Amino acid sequence: MITRDPKEIEILRQGGKILASALKKAAAAAKPGISAFELDQIAEKEIRNMGGIPSFKNYRPDSKTPPFPGSLCVSVNEEIVHGVPDESKMLKAGDIVGLDLGVEYRGLFTDAAITVGVGELDENLSKLTSVAKQCLDRAIENVKPGNFISDISWTIQKTAESNGFSVVRELVGHGVGKAIHEDPEIPCFGKPKTGIKIVEGMVLAIEPMVNMGGWKVKFDGPWSVKTEDGSKSAHFEHTVLVTAKGCEILTNVV
Ligand code: MN
Repeated sequence: MITRDPKEIEILRQGGKILASALKKAAAAAKPGISAFELDQIAEKEIRNMGGIPSFKNYRPDSKTPPFPGSLCVSVNEEIVHGVPDESKMLKAGDIVGLDLGVEYRGLFTDAAITVGVGELDENLSKLTSVAKQCLDRAIENVKPGNFISDISWTIQKTAESNGFSVVRELVGHGVGKAIHEDPEIPCFGKPKTGIKIVEGMVLAIEPMVNMGGWKVKFDGPWSVKTEDGSKSAHFEHTVLVTAKGCEILTNVV
């Protein structure tokens, strides 16, 4: 069981503020006609100005995968996560765009994501993004010592499916702190009250990935993960610290 000490927690709080500030700036710039690359540059600049390091930049999970070519994952419409911030990827009115960012600050990592509408969204896409956000909010309400990691998973699944959407099963949330990904895995589905218990001092990256259609995914290139059926997908994520009675969101926009 990985837990963090008070000194590490204070660093994570500061790192989380850097992340939130950068994500807020990138989200505010997500307008029709801007490229994913420009959003990436906005986020990276803010992180570095505030003394942090963009942790996704050049990240590679294994030696077979090429380094991630950016600081910000920009996932548009049917892209679920890990969208590459290319110059040719231009945002259009009516798109939804997931922005996922990781920050390293004094050796400790935080991770967060939001999905925003570009211009006006149609009713179905508005509902998809608001339900995905609701999945995260409800999951966070269930983070407290004595509950189980699977209670987070179950809450996400129940919230998404009761609104007619599906949850991604092949990708998971995770512990975070000394590395970008740590144990435990936090799936977006599962039975409640089973497996690992939540304890004070854990730092968790909770990330609902909610699809309009089916839950299956496909890879497009080494990074981009899309819905298999081409339906649209929304993603929200916060890094939270488990406290004595609940949790503290470390990546909230202040
Ligand atoms: Mn994550």
